[in-house]
Amino acid sequence: MSNQQTLLPSYTDSIILGAGLGGLAMAIKLQEKGRNDFILIEKGNEVGGTWRDNSYPGSACDVQSHLYSYSFTNKWDWQKRYGGWSEIQDYILDTVKEYDLRPKVRFNLEVNSAVFDKDRALWTVGTTDGQYVNCRFFIIASGSLHHPVIPDIKGLDTFKGKVMHSARWDHDYDLTNKRVASIGTGGSAIQYAPEIADSVSQLDVYQRSAAWVIPRDERHYSKFTKSMFRRFPFLRRLYRARLYLTNEIRVWPIFNPKIANIGGYLAKQFIKLQVKDPELQKKLTPDYTFGCKRILISNKWFPMFNKKNVELITEGIKEITENSIIDNQGNERPVDAIILGTGFVVDPRGYMKNFNLQGLPGHNLLQDWKEGAESYLGNTVYGYPNMFQLVGPNALLGHNSIIFMIEAQVHYVLQCMQALDKRNMSYMTVKKEAQDAYNLEVQERLQGTVWESGCRSWYQQADGKNFVLWPATTLTFWKRNRSVVEEHYDWVRVNASSNGEPLQDRPKMTTEEPTAV
Ligand SMILES: Cc1cc2nc3c(=O)[nH]c(=O)nc-3n(C[C@H](O)[C@H](O)[C@H](O)COP(=O)(O)OP(=O)(O)OC[C@H]3O[C@@H](n4cnc5c(N)ncnc54)[C@H](O)[C@@H]3O)c2cc1C
Repeated sequence: MSNQQTLLPSYTDSIILGAGLGGLAMAIKLQEKGRNDFILIEKGNEVGGTWRDNSYPGSACDVQSHLYSYSFTNKWDWQKRYGGWSEIQDYILDTVKEYDLRPKVRFNLEVNSAVFDKDRALWTVGTTDGQYVNCRFFIIASGSLHHPVIPDIKGLDTFKGKVMHSARWDHDYDLTNKRVASIGTGGSAIQYAPEIADSVSQLDVYQRSAAWVIPRDERHYSKFTKSMFRRFPFLRRLYRARLYLTNEIRVWPIFNPKIANIGGYLAKQFIKLQVKDPELQKKLTPDYTFGCKRILISNKWFPMFNKKNVELITEGIKEITENSIIDNQGNERPVDAIILGTGFVVDPRGYMKNFNLQGLPGHNLLQDWKEGAESYLGNTVYGYPNMFQLVGPNALLGHNSIIFMIEAQVHYVLQCMQALDKRNMSYMTVKKEAQDAYNLEVQERLQGTVWESGCRSWYQQADGKNFVLWPATTLTFWKRNRSVVEEHYDWVRVNASSNGEPLQDRPKMTTEEPTAV
């Protein structure tokens, strides 16, 4: 082992995989409960996850910052309604400092295996550098939006200019006066493209399908407002509650495509107002129901297309040469740089394909998820005891702050740990019937929503099943996560101490006592 290697202990009670907003929330709450024997394993060299990685120009949140922040921190001095990446990342760094979490994080280590030993009720978690650490609780907070999609376009690998994905922005590369192609029109592209449009000599925007974009109610908080929030924290809480409720109302059109169509009508007026050329207006107008794909917010996206140096290309890409892009009509456009605003591999079967995750005998996660990722409450998975996942399948949102969901799930994990303690059990594993019934309910709830109205989106796996979104109010999710329905789990006591001696050295001396509830 080199001196540079971050060393892992042989045992810790809980391992949190990932130090983004999810993993950090879990860590803070474990600490608060006095469960201090945990570490976070983070493959990056800094905390922050999404906000560490997405530093492209214009990167910002589309949930209001007073809501897109933990309920238990009191950040009163947000500068703007929607924080930019650096303000959010600073907030995360400040929070890590406030809760003294840095010593708990093991950086630059990528977890690539986790194997459960049912005889000892222990997970053995492995990292790509060949280290192993045993733990009782394995909490996956890996996020689902961090493996960049590199599109399979003929010739991309032969391009001689600069290629970068939006989540791997090279700030040393100067785009000034360059001919730039931007591929994709999703959440990241609509943020960075308007920011670079003025400085590049030419910006070609390749659009596969138009996005619904609505106005961004952007504003700076005045000194007075900030001082009121500082002096009277309840005012900030009231404001936060107001933001929460107004966002929550947006769940309504999701369940009623007729109402969504009213949104679509208004969004079309927004395009007409901002784009001069009727032909362009048409190309920028989506041909699917409002809300079927993620609704984006920007005041800069549409006006950008009025600029002389910006061209919208909807003909698709045939191939990329050493210094140009040829569209499906045969038009060739020379470029110096290509920016991939092509999003992320969201399906865990894709981004976990090299991750060996084995639970109870016969359970291998990639096998169990062959037909699609499923869990119970987006959190526990049948066959994987004492394993929890934050923002797992069907726990992402289209209308409110994901931090609300994360906090609900963190609470749930703590409830599980407490239930195990109370019952003096070694591990709990969700029952198949409970998980199946839950997923049936989720899929039934999804029927008739705008997400099922016929478009293709990253919310769906290849066969069209939506495995990403929570199909109800966040309040419903919160209620479900308040307490553990103990009948939904099997509880097992193992009479072997789990003090973390290395797996291979330890004799198997167990008696297993499954308990029916
Ligand atoms: C550009 C962008 C904008 C977004 N805007 C919004 C928004 O406006 N509102 C909203 O609600 N959500 C938004 N999101 C979603 C965002 O991902 C979540 O809000 C939130 O940041 C997720 O936090 P997380 O901790 O679950 O995941 P992440 O922030 O992705 O953190 C996961 C961490 O786990 C680490 N990790 C992953 N795998 C491993 C491994 N095998 N070993 C070790 N470490 C690992 C990663 O390096 C990362 O640091 C956005 C996402 C992106 C990409």
